[in-house]
Amino acid sequence: MLQKKVCMLGSFSVGKSSLVRRFVESMFDEQYHTTIGVKVDKKVVNANGEDFTLVLWDIYGEDAFQKMRMSYLRGMHGYLLVVDGTRRQTLDDGLALHDRVVAEIGKVPAVLVLNKFDLTDQWEIEQAQETQLTAAGWTMEHTSAKTGAAVEKAFLHLAQLMLAK
Ligand code: GDP
Ligand code: MG
Repeated sequence: MLQKKVCMLGSFSVGKSSLVRRFVESMFDEQYHTTIGVKVDKKVVNANGEDFTLVLWDIYGEDAFQKMRMSYLRGMHGYLLVVDGTRRQTLDDGLALHDRVVAEIGKVPAVLVLNKFDLTDQWEIEQAQETQLTAAGWTMEHTSAKTGAAVEKAFLHLAQLMLAK
């Protein structure tokens, strides 16, 4: 079966591992587990009438990404750039990370995931900013790994972008 390598990118504690867990195992955990090294999960999805396997690469903190980015990114077909909507800084850091990835390997399909959307009372990303990001060409999803809202949608959205390539 066709396989697509997908990397989870974004700052520390934005919810990368939680999104994978929700998507692959339909589970959520309030406790923080530092992801050690790289964890690879697989899930078969159907997009545009075609079954294929998403191979999901999850890494811990951005510092680790600095060190191992080439082996982490090699062969990547697409990525979820994950941001914690309750921490504006993670958006700025995420976009800077995206620039580095593009410089390193060129453009590949990506979806900007504004996670923790269950915490709307603490939301720090303004509508005007989102409008700007959309205008800049970003595909965006508002997710909650906690409730599961739009998590599958975000991964499927990326799957469609990768297939269209
Ligand atoms: P990672 O470092 O990017 O892999 O982040 P984790 O997946 O380990 O999540 C960091 C923390 O945020 C954990 O305590 C999670 O339970 C919490 N978390 C992740 N996603 C969500 C979400 O959608 N909503 C809420 N309320 N908490 C979340
Ligand atoms: Mg993690």
